[in-house]
Amino acid sequence: MAKKSLWLTYSPEMIQKMNDFCEGYKQFMSVCKTERECVNTFIEMAEKAGYQDLYACVKEGKTLKAGDKVYASNRNKMLMLAQLGEEDLEKGLNILGAHIDSPRLDLKPHPLYEDSEFAMFKTHYYGGIKKFQWVTLPLALHGVIAKKNGEVVKVVIGEDPSDPVLGISDILPHLGKDQRAKTLGEAFTGEDLNLNIGNAAMPDGEDEKDLVKKNVLRILKEKYDVEEDDFESAEIEVVPAGAARDFGLDRSMVFAYGHDDRICAYTSVMAQLDLADTTPKKTYVTLLVDKEEIGSVGATGMHSKFFENCMAEILELTGSYSELKLRRMLSSSAMLSSDVSAGFDPNYASVHERNNAPFFSYGPVLHKYTGSGGKGGSNDATAEYIARIRNIFDQADVRFQLAELGKVDQGGGGTIAYILAQYSMDVIDLGIPLHNMHAPWEVAAKTDIYEAYRAYKVFLEKI
Ligand code: MN
Ligand code: MN
Repeated sequence: MAKKSLWLTYSPEMIQKMNDFCEGYKQFMSVCKTERECVNTFIEMAEKAGYQDLYACVKEGKTLKAGDKVYASNRNKMLMLAQLGEEDLEKGLNILGAHIDSPRLDLKPHPLYEDSEFAMFKTHYYGGIKKFQWVTLPLALHGVIAKKNGEVVKVVIGEDPSDPVLGISDILPHLGKDQRAKTLGEAFTGEDLNLNIGNAAMPDGEDEKDLVKKNVLRILKEKYDVEEDDFESAEIEVVPAGAARDFGLDRSMVFAYGHDDRICAYTSVMAQLDLADTTPKKTYVTLLVDKEEIGSVGATGMHSKFFENCMAEILELTGSYSELKLRRMLSSSAMLSSDVSAGFDPNYASVHERNNAPFFSYGPVLHKYTGSGGKGGSNDATAEYIARIRNIFDQADVRFQLAELGKVDQGGGGTIAYILAQYSMDVIDLGIPLHNMHAPWEVAAKTDIYEAYRAYKVFLEKI
């Protein structure tokens, strides 16, 4: 089948719908820059669509039946949405999965210090970043400070137009001789990524030491009622400041922080919530996980038992829990593990093999396998499963592309696909192509965002 750009196949009505959809996406991306912010926003959206808290249902001993909708939050950093179908749960679920953590800088447990009359924050990068991309940018702080009294203080600094922004400095080119002689990897180290947060030395009685740092602590105390030690129990993420924007003179793309992988998370949630008023045949599940960028580890990563536990609770509330039934349910399920892909970039054409590269505006990308060094660490979906997906997408006129991440020996990457595949369920990677993946600002095509959302709905309803 000859493929062409979605711009040449979308009707004016479709283009209007796509633009409306992307306005909502940009608003979401401008506000939700941490996994916690995503979970909070998705719960609000789900509750509006009639979803109930699974744990509240467990507590009240409620019975669940077809058409009921529940969500479960794991420590406000991982989220499961389920809409129960008519078919016996042991026949399997239709699952959408994506991750909601993104590469960034985290504040260290003891971040604050003063050097040469600047107050500074030490950071520790999270996920695969190119460190040189994070200097001389306006940066914001998003996160929480958990106090010993149990209170959790939410922090957002740098997003309101009246807020200050923070930043990491770089050396001027005039004095950059030594820096220029280094490789990209050597020129910026993790310990160099220190955030400049102030320069005002304010008088503090007789004391003349660290007056800039003390002033910053005074400001934090006034605004958030926190002490310096409270950073020991904080999760403060340093992220690019500012809103998601249209990109291109023709406004055909979206420029945002954290497309990887909130672009798949948002489109998946929107697809499932759009179907909220139906009673499906199969049970729909959307699973949004934390920690993908650091190996899917921890209690809120895909390797945790959270998803399996949620499914056991749901089986119990439908009055049909057994270990065997749970296993049958999981192994009969079908999943789209959604994560972004490396869109062909004319500036860096040499890392792609054109016949198997994903292109902007050709729809979401199915990856039979990811991995690196000879498919190492990949899930490698079966030909039969891919044929089923091709069939439902073609029947619904959903456009997609089959591709690899890049040239065979150029590198590679992984997703959560292989972890769900451990249940012996059918899983394949599907994602949206990006430029600048893992950079502070990433780029995606509006057509691909809208087409992925259409693809998710078809998958939930038809697979
Ligand atoms: Mn990703
Ligand atoms: Mn990533």
